Amino acid sequence: MQIIVLKFGGTSVGTIDRIKKVSNIIATYVKKKYKVIVVSSAMSGVTNDLVNKSKKISKNFNPSEYDVLLSSGEQVACALIAARLNHLGYKSRSWMSWQIPILTEGNHSYSRITFINKKKIIDYIKSGGIPIITGFQGINNLNRLSTLGRGGSDASAIMCAKFFNASKCIIYTDVQGVYTTDPKNLKKAKKIKVISYEEMLEMSSLGAKVMQPNSIQDARLNRINIDVRSSFINKKGTLITKKKNVIRNRIITGITSTKNDAKLTLLGVKDRPGVAASIFKPLYKNSINVDMVVQNISANGKETDLTFTIKSENLIKTKKLIKKNMKIRFKKLIIDKKVSKVSIIGVGMITTPGVTYRMFQALANNGINILVISTSEIKISVLINNKNVKKAIAALHKEFKLSN
Ligand code: ADP
Ligand code: ASP
Ligand code: MG
Repeated sequence: MQIIVLKFGGTSVGTIDRIKKVSNIIATYVKKKYKVIVVSSAMSGVTNDLVNKSKKISKNFNPSEYDVLLSSGEQVACALIAARLNHLGYKSRSWMSWQIPILTEGNHSYSRITFINKKKIIDYIKSGGIPIITGFQGINNLNRLSTLGRGGSDASAIMCAKFFNASKCIIYTDVQGVYTTDPKNLKKAKKIKVISYEEMLEMSSLGAKVMQPNSIQDARLNRINIDVRSSFINKKGTLITKKKNVIRNRIITGITSTKNDAKLTLLGVKDRPGVAASIFKPLYKNSINVDMVVQNISANGKETDLTFTIKSENLIKTKKLIKKNMKIRFKKLIIDKKVSKVSIIGVGMITTPGVTYRMFQALANNGINILVISTSEIKISVLINNKNVKKAIAALHKEFKLSN
């Protein structure tokens, strides 16, 4: 049986009119005799609205109830799609993740799919039905609803492709594919035809919202090819696939930026072994991810300054943890919330000297000050003032000739 998975994101199902259009897209595949599994996200804005509602109820919203709340948007979208397909004369129904079931592990809000029971869905497809499955969720070992992190419908689609052995996994979204940088930030951004899992994983982890990072990890592990394309116009999209299938002569593949970062600097920290570990241990214990870290060389051998970044949603908690940490002593804590991380990504930089220099020079030529730097084999990230993000992206896009 030739199964294909079609995933629709929030904007693609954002209005009744869009849901009608999406149902027509689904019907075109059915007419071509494909066996289709649909995964849908919630209508755009709905999940954000649910997050806001939770905040008004309690700052310590119970994690399992939070997932019940957040996962509810997908139920609405799936019922609307199924009903529209019924209206068009097709056999279709919604499938909540617990009805299948889709099993997950891990903490609430950050769960990962471990198993999907195929039986009911396969029987339904064999009976001529089009299953519309709620993305972004599953159930855990306590039979409670769990969600897969924001943007998690992408991971639902990839895991459906894996467990149902689909021949294709198509991610329908509101842009025509993966671009050299967010097309909403730069008009000159160019669609990338083929990109490797490795580069896509870096791009999405560093801010390219178009695909959820976990979903790319799942796709890489299971060798699932992903086709990212627009649900608005019928044009060839981007293929995300293994390295071997990618021919590229560019040094840099893409540029990303993040929102909502915060930079913390501890001035005058006692410079002795174990101090950095003492600072970061309580953060780790509270599941706060520390991103970029820089420790200055101490001038007098006694004291040093330590700078690191976190997501701003964790700022209040982090400040509290640092202030009540009896294991560390420092003179002052400085916080900067107006920062963003801009990154260039590309496997080409491994073999090409001078990429770092070109990046820094391009930023300097535009009067952009670099606050923190971090690098890996295939990416260079700089932290800058967020008022300079657009300018930095445009300068780097030009420097590395990404519009050509
Ligand atoms: P969906 O609701 O379909 O899941 P998302 O909003 O999660 O869609 O992701 C699509 C958005 O990702 C685009 O509208 C675009 O602004 C943003 N984006 C960020 N970086 C990129 C990039 N490099 N290529 C394409 N889109 C990007
Ligand atoms: N509706 C969820 C979210 O907004 C999942 C998704 O869009 O993929 O995060
Ligand atoms: Mg998304």
